[in-house]
Amino acid sequence: MSKVRTRIAPSPTGYLHLGTARTALYSWAYARHFGGEFVLRIEDTDVARSTQDSVAQILASMQWLGLDHDEGPYYQMQRLVRYHEVAEQMIAAGTAYRCWCTPAELDAMREAQRARGEKTRYDGRWRPRPGKLLPPAPAGVQPVVRFANPPHGMVIWDDLVKGPISISNEEIDDLIILRPAPEGATADAAALGVPTYNFAVVVDDWDMAITHVFRGDEHINNTPWQINIFRALGAPLPRFGHCPIILGEGGQKLSKRRGAVSVTAYRDAGYLPEAMLNYLARLGWSHGDEELFTLQQMVQWFDGSHLARSPAQWDPAKLAWVNAHYIKIADDTRLAGLVQEQLTSRGVAAAGLELLERASALFKDRCSTVVELTDWVEMIFVPVAPRAEDLAAHVGDAVRPALRSLRERFTDIAWDKATIAAAMREALAAHQLKMPQLAPALRVLVCGRTQTPSIDAVLALFPRTTVLARLQHV
Ligand code: GLU
Repeated sequence: MSKVRTRIAPSPTGYLHLGTARTALYSWAYARHFGGEFVLRIEDTDVARSTQDSVAQILASMQWLGLDHDEGPYYQMQRLVRYHEVAEQMIAAGTAYRCWCTPAELDAMREAQRARGEKTRYDGRWRPRPGKLLPPAPAGVQPVVRFANPPHGMVIWDDLVKGPISISNEEIDDLIILRPAPEGATADAAALGVPTYNFAVVVDDWDMAITHVFRGDEHINNTPWQINIFRALGAPLPRFGHCPIILGEGGQKLSKRRGAVSVTAYRDAGYLPEAMLNYLARLGWSHGDEELFTLQQMVQWFDGSHLARSPAQWDPAKLAWVNAHYIKIADDTRLAGLVQEQLTSRGVAAAGLELLERASALFKDRCSTVVELTDWVEMIFVPVAPRAEDLAAHVGDAVRPALRSLRERFTDIAWDKATIAAAMREALAAHQLKMPQLAPALRVLVCGRTQTPSIDAVLALFPRTTVLARLQHV
């Protein structure tokens, strides 16, 4: 058996979509499981919509997820010579031909078909046939190259996800495989033409010796053409696996209008890559009842079986739960670095990592994102504004004397959790109060909120001067 080679082939017309990230994960894990190779290819032939910025985003997203590729990134626009060459070979072999139809002619063709109640399709007018006389090529029209699709028979494949699929060749027409370059294209493109998706993808999957193609099921209708082109080229067929779409809220396709759909948005919202991968893995694949697993475990288990045939529902609450798990077990030094990045992006002066590490350790159990963790940590550096009702409820006259003496004590004790706790116990005894009176008052004044982890531990995180300043007016 040949070596397993998979690929992900995003188009750089935007960020890396979550659906593509999931297919990338499946392709990557499949290659890793079988000791194969994973290729990254940038499908940038949509010249008008592809941008360098999108390429950068895609590469950054793949890197952040840790889905490392063994080859690439290949760029289709750097392979125009190859597509041109294959198209010429196909023309010579009779499996492709030039078509000089103008857009106006194609419109008229479709119009007439519609008027006759027929399905609109290319009618094969430039397709050579034995004994058929083709008109002379019109001057001033740049031809496209069309694939001579087999007119009859079925295209059948055993889909890795969906099982056997068959589509009749009568359903599909002679698709364009190479077009003249659009206005403003590079000299190369102008000379060689630009391939369409279905053609470039086949030439590439062939040249790159791809054995297994995982992709979204919006491509199912393209696959028959691709299989026919593979066959016309005498190229070995890869196996195909089409993953169902991811549904957003309300059962609609997950889209930008219904929440974040890019990998980078989740990174920026404080999700950890291992949580994204774990969540994405389960969204369309299962291994028994396992919900939380490492990437290594996934690689061990992912052999292409147990892929879901029906669409999965994006579940923000479950993703948050998965992320909370990974935050809880994350190394504090790493969390400190992430919190520091978040603080910097909020314009909060960078704090020492050692402090951020201790703060992360203290607050992380309560957080489902790094953004939430940062919301906690931020109170150490940014003045808090206690709510009037919290002040009224928790900082009454009964507790003020104790707060004042505590403030006195805080000026010169050792600044650590145990000593702070001891000072609080002394103040409670001296003023005949109970902890449930003192602790909420300290929380409201120092932290601007009524709930925190153990207050002695929290106070020990703050610089002493900050605590004194926040207790100044009691
Ligand atoms: N560029 C295509 C896309 O982003 C790739 C599809 C495929 O994997 O063949 O949808």
